[in-house]
Amino acid sequence: MKSFPSSLSHVAQFFERLPGIGQKTANRLAFYLLRMPERDLQEIADHLSNLKSRTKKCHICHNLTEEDICSICQDTKRDISLITVVEDVLDILPFETGDIYQGYYHVLHGKIDPLNHIGPEDIYIESLMARIKKNGSGIEEVILATNADMEGEATSMFIRNRLKELKETHQFSFKVTRLGYGLPIGGNVEYADYMTLRKSIENRNAYE
Ligand SMILES: [Zn+2]
Repeated sequence: MKSFPSSLSHVAQFFERLPGIGQKTANRLAFYLLRMPERDLQEIADHLSNLKSRTKKCHICHNLTEEDICSICQDTKRDISLITVVEDVLDILPFETGDIYQGYYHVLHGKIDPLNHIGPEDIYIESLMARIKKNGSGIEEVILATNADMEGEATSMFIRNRLKELKETHQFSFKVTRLGYGLPIGGNVEYADYMTLRKSIENRNAYE
């Protein structure tokens, strides 16, 4: 983009750093923005500058929110006996499509990945244990919905063992389950379509 003004090429270079965007698309998006009305651009700029400063993690489940507690945790109509553990915030979206799930969540913000030096203490496992310790008698089921790849499986196994200890020491009686058939091996929850995830929830297996 040597022949273009630097303000335009800077924007294009930023787009190019985003996942799945190559140089051509980045240039096209930068040109598209240039043709937009000034006030729309200003609006985008305002939203972008608020993105980081206003967004925080829910104190209970670590979903993203602009308040201390996210809208899901604030929703008292949900089934308090059910917690689904997911790796990332985006994994919540397919569960919230349609009417397949009414419980609460716990977002780990990652998975145990020794090759990348991410251990259990680097993700929100301890806060899950604290949450369950506090409300354990009211919980009937913890669904482990980490992805079906190697690290996701290892993460679920680790959490399962910790939950088992917790159940024994506190005499809790909740079940631990893992999403069932439907999700392909190595499959990512975030990209699961509605039918696949519904099947996967219906066919969840005891995981103890
Ligand atoms: Zn929450």
